[in-house]
Amino acid sequence: MNLKRISSVLAAGILFATIAAVSVFGQDGYSRDTTQPIDQDYTKKIAEYTTEKFFNSPLTDYLPASPNVPTPQTVIGDIAGAPGKLPYAEDVYKYMRMLEKATPRVKVFSIGTTEEGREMIAVAVASESLLARLDENRARLAKLADPRTINLDDAEADRLVEQSFPIYYITGTIHSPETGAPTALMELAYRLAVDDSPYIKSIRDNMVTLITPVVEVDGRDRMVDVYKWHLAHPNENYPNLIYWGHYVAHDNNRDAMAMSLKLTKNVLNTYVSWKAQVLHDLHESVAYLYDNTVGDQPYNAWLDPILTDEWQMIGWKNVSEMTKFGMPGVFTHGTFDTWSPGYLMFIAATHNGISRLYETFGNGGADTLTRTLSPDEYQRTWYKQNPPLPRARWSQRNNNNYEQTAILVSLDYFNKNQKLFLKNFYLKSKRSVEKPKNEGPAAYVFPADDPRLGNQAALLRILQGQACEVHRATAPFTVTMKKKPAPRGGPAARGGNPAAAASPARTPETEQRTFPAGSYIVRMDQPYSRIADALLDYQYWSPRDPQQSVYDDTGWTFGELGNLQVVRVTDVKVLDAAMEKVNGDVHSPGGVAGSGTVFIVNDNADNDLVTLRYRLRRASFEAAEEPFEAAGKKFNRGSFIIRNALLDEVNKATAELGVPAFAVAAAPTVKTHPIKAARVAIMHTWLSTQDEGWWRLAFDQAGIPYDYISTQDVARETDLNKKYDVIVFGPGGGNNNAVIQGRPMYGNALPWKKTELTPDLGGFAATDDMRPGLGWNGLMNLQNFVKNGGVFIGSDESADFAVSMGMTPGVSIQRPTRLRAIGDVLKTRMIDAASPIAYGYGDTLSVYCFQGPIFNISNVAGGGGGGRRTPGQAPPRTTGRGSADDPDVVQGRPPAEVPEPSPATEIWEAAPVNEEQRRNLVGLIPPAQRPRVVLRWGNANELLVSGLLDGGDEIAQHAAVIDSPLDRGHVVLFAMNPFWRGQTSGSYSLVFNTILSFDNLNAGRKLDEK
Ligand SMILES: [Zn+2]
Repeated sequence: MNLKRISSVLAAGILFATIAAVSVFGQDGYSRDTTQPIDQDYTKKIAEYTTEKFFNSPLTDYLPASPNVPTPQTVIGDIAGAPGKLPYAEDVYKYMRMLEKATPRVKVFSIGTTEEGREMIAVAVASESLLARLDENRARLAKLADPRTINLDDAEADRLVEQSFPIYYITGTIHSPETGAPTALMELAYRLAVDDSPYIKSIRDNMVTLITPVVEVDGRDRMVDVYKWHLAHPNENYPNLIYWGHYVAHDNNRDAMAMSLKLTKNVLNTYVSWKAQVLHDLHESVAYLYDNTVGDQPYNAWLDPILTDEWQMIGWKNVSEMTKFGMPGVFTHGTFDTWSPGYLMFIAATHNGISRLYETFGNGGADTLTRTLSPDEYQRTWYKQNPPLPRARWSQRNNNNYEQTAILVSLDYFNKNQKLFLKNFYLKSKRSVEKPKNEGPAAYVFPADDPRLGNQAALLRILQGQACEVHRATAPFTVTMKKKPAPRGGPAARGGNPAAAASPARTPETEQRTFPAGSYIVRMDQPYSRIADALLDYQYWSPRDPQQSVYDDTGWTFGELGNLQVVRVTDVKVLDAAMEKVNGDVHSPGGVAGSGTVFIVNDNADNDLVTLRYRLRRASFEAAEEPFEAAGKKFNRGSFIIRNALLDEVNKATAELGVPAFAVAAAPTVKTHPIKAARVAIMHTWLSTQDEGWWRLAFDQAGIPYDYISTQDVARETDLNKKYDVIVFGPGGGNNNAVIQGRPMYGNALPWKKTELTPDLGGFAATDDMRPGLGWNGLMNLQNFVKNGGVFIGSDESADFAVSMGMTPGVSIQRPTRLRAIGDVLKTRMIDAASPIAYGYGDTLSVYCFQGPIFNISNVAGGGGGGRRTPGQAPPRTTGRGSADDPDVVQGRPPAEVPEPSPATEIWEAAPVNEEQRRNLVGLIPPAQRPRVVLRWGNANELLVSGLLDGGDEIAQHAAVIDSPLDRGHVVLFAMNPFWRGQTSGSYSLVFNTILSFDNLNAGRKLDEK
């Protein structure tokens, strides 16, 4: 904003723009207040710990002194970024609360706790006068954030903008091995509260800086433990940080869609309730500061272009100022595409604010080290004209200098342009409200007759968690829908052939669709419509996109992954339907209807069913093996018949879970098998635990009790059946060889356990030495477990493990050569609905897929003895007499009889074994031991639901879920990941069903004759 504008503001008589504020808008430099004394001792140490002069700036090469405000040294025992110093979260908080006590310019707010009960905080820094007016300012910001409250009146918005001060929210160390942010933010809070440099004073007097110094608090404390262990054992290898948060590691920064983790919820609630304009998340990876705000293409398609312009403004300003300071290695373009909205900072992007992220350079601790870069890191590029040095000593202090300098530059720029950004905040909110009549859609409808109302409620609660409003229709309503066009092009159209996909669409015809009363409506004329649209819409990433190194998932359509009907409605008439806003969490209807001592619960593959089984532990449950009718209703295969339970307890449990139950006098006559409360173990490796962490999280949410065991436990336990019915091995635990071998045994042991030195390690998983793996004994124990009747569940890599280790005769894996299925949503089709694994599911199911594996099925152990035949592709005839369809004729003898060709088999089936092959076929698998395919991948032309798919024909139609018997037990294999980032609730029940029917997986099985 220029001075001319300011004078007009003053002329309007708005006294808020105080005299001091004028300097905000006039001041361009970063000069110091020369009258303010400097903390000489602290400043000396800054120079000492900074390895090169040019790794610091005039903004952070000193610390102002204060007679009454303590510096970070009081708590750390040295300055921020000092070598060897890594404070626990508790110490960081202690310091922030000391600041709060010492100065009225700092206020500390508790914003919730972590999974393990540790506190999260937000620290507000601003002038005393601003902090005294937080509530009235929040009331103004709330109006800008929800323009409906001012009837989208731009003039009123301008008045509010002039009166308001913005909130810039900074978050640190979500990634626990990226250790520098807490000390940088301690010192930053001090500077903002104490420093009288005109530019800092202006920031303090005109905006609020809000700081969460530690986002992943559980992981921070574990990281400090590991670092302390390292300091105590200076010449030894130290354990890597195998657990960050309670459930996941790096993926804690992929949770901003489903918001399964408490840290995400706490930051989102803080961001939304403060009505903040910016969420700026601090990371460490590349040298020396990648302001990845501008990033690379493709940008997320649901963002307001106003935001992407803001990225450019702030990002480039950041680079240019730091370049002028002579700090090498600062850039803003880079290898980060901004497609997925799963990152923590994206909370701001999807809620009308500005998302920002820094990657600075860290040493994974507080050691000062010589760091050597690779050519692609230090070479000059068009967007990195002053690249980092090929080799340099690097300290945590350097990192703190870069982090703070960059943030101060950003705060200064944001402050100087704060009215512009506040106005943009309003405009983005307004354009979100105007979505139905601009880009659309008008609403998403969740029909009341969806077969899975429990999962539907769970998805709506995610949207409510995102601060979206949900409405419920009080009467049926009808809208005009575009008819779905017929599949375009040939079979390759949706299998990734861009030429076919680009064929012109025909004029769509319309049809009327009526939704029943009770249907939920997510209106798009609300301020946070963009996040709902981004989650519920479909994604398409062209295989020909210039961006060939995809950063993360390419598809995530929540309705599809939730196995739910979610209808995108563009007809604005939907907004006139009779509806009421849902107050409180959406809850599906439950409880017992009717009377009798037998209770029936329909199986619709809702995830609450498994919870009900474990909740009513003492009751006896059976599952129907065929559909049936009772109480005047139709029940699916798998429906529960519950006996030996009191009405009150069934009613209470089903009401709380939102599961409808029907009491009847006598059980229906239908074939059933018992559903016992299986004893479950989740097995992890000591190599990597993140991906299985999402499984644990879902099991905990579903209330499935389990033992959390490691491959080392399995190696020791010769009789696993004594303890467990089902062993779940989630994906991502390491490659097959490493699962067996563990880590190399050179050097010292790597303990992960609670000690006086490391009080935060080993809480839920502990070992004296992380190195040993499953070993061959462990593998034998696991195989014996299955052979003796146990069930082993594997997915992606852990399915590959079971196949490669010989636990699944008849299943083999084909390595992809062309397939690119990069974290997307693909369609599967039901093959064997009578399998208990399939109970409650329909004909198709969309699942999360990352590159397979591509399963092949054979009736011969080891995969031989057959060869697959694609239907309709008989071998072409050879050269000879007659037409193309005629038989050839050998001259001089009567024609020989040609045997019937063996019947064509589908890609997901085993080829039949013919008589020639059968003669002495040692490996022929007896029919009852052959792999049973439950789901297969869709056809090539229908496979892609959302995301990037290229070469999809390579996996199309192959088996996707397989029940592979092994003696008395079963290995159940998933070519997809059923538990991914809290987003795949529609596929959870495939695993839950396996657990529920663990000792009757053969139910409904049809055997081959021979
Ligand atoms: Zn990171």
